[in-house]
Amino acid sequence: MFQIKNLTVKIADKIILNNLNLDLEEGKIHALMGQNGTGKSTLCRVIMHDPDYEIAKGEINYQDKDLTKMATTDIARAGIFMLSQSPVAIEGVTNAEMLRTVLSEKSKEPVNIFQFNKKMETICDHLDLPHDFIHRNINLGMSGGERKKNELLHLWMLEPQVILIDEIDSGLDVDALRIVADSLKEYYRKFKPTILIITHHNKLLELIKPDSVYVMKDGQIVATGDYALAEKIENEGFKAFTINGLGNNE
Ligand code: ADP
Ligand code: MG
Repeated sequence: MFQIKNLTVKIADKIILNNLNLDLEEGKIHALMGQNGTGKSTLCRVIMHDPDYEIAKGEINYQDKDLTKMATTDIARAGIFMLSQSPVAIEGVTNAEMLRTVLSEKSKEPVNIFQFNKKMETICDHLDLPHDFIHRNINLGMSGGERKKNELLHLWMLEPQVILIDEIDSGLDVDALRIVADSLKEYYRKFKPTILIITHHNKLLELIKPDSVYVMKDGQIVATGDYALAEKIENEGFKAFTINGLGNNE
């Protein structure tokens, strides 16, 4: 249902994703692991069609549409949501303003302010965020961990069906990691979205058991497995993986 086919992506003439193929099964949790600099964040940004990246070849198909031919806004409208590795601050726009605008565009009618505030407060409580986050500028002056939670606030309000989660665990203390993992698990139970979790640590995957695990190296998928593959990486690192698959010790 979400199919990435022969995707080659360049930036400044350097190939970052190299003929990458990946299928995400509807309503399942997929983990993508790999060392720094293998192209994991690039893949997320390209799915959202960041114009900085040149798509040399390939397709990203979702619900009969090729996302490589769509604008980022339309990709978001189609229900694809990215939790960024480093969420950017947007000065001058509050969480409430952005979310109310998006929700009223989605439902084609004005948002009921009372219900909106109630829902925002409930989600803030659930994420252990103070209620004043509702009217804070998006991510502005927030710590790394608060930004990640702030993005989860957006997730719960917008209810997307496909979620790309780029290293949400980086920069989180243990308590915040648990809150974030519990929140994602609850969201999954409630909405059964298709999820792609990017991480190079096993801790998050211990908390949210993925249905399948992929290893990326040099812009390609070099291994596929179930949760046991993540445990193997935790014990042995990424050294065993080569472009042609697992190394000799498999
Ligand atoms: P990962 O998320 O797996 O750590 P990235 O996707 O961030 O890796 O980066 C993959 C490679 O592409 C790295 O070598 C990185 O320096 C390069 N790259 C990514 N985005 C850009 C960019 N905007 N400009 C230049 N190089 C980039
Ligand atoms: Mg990254």
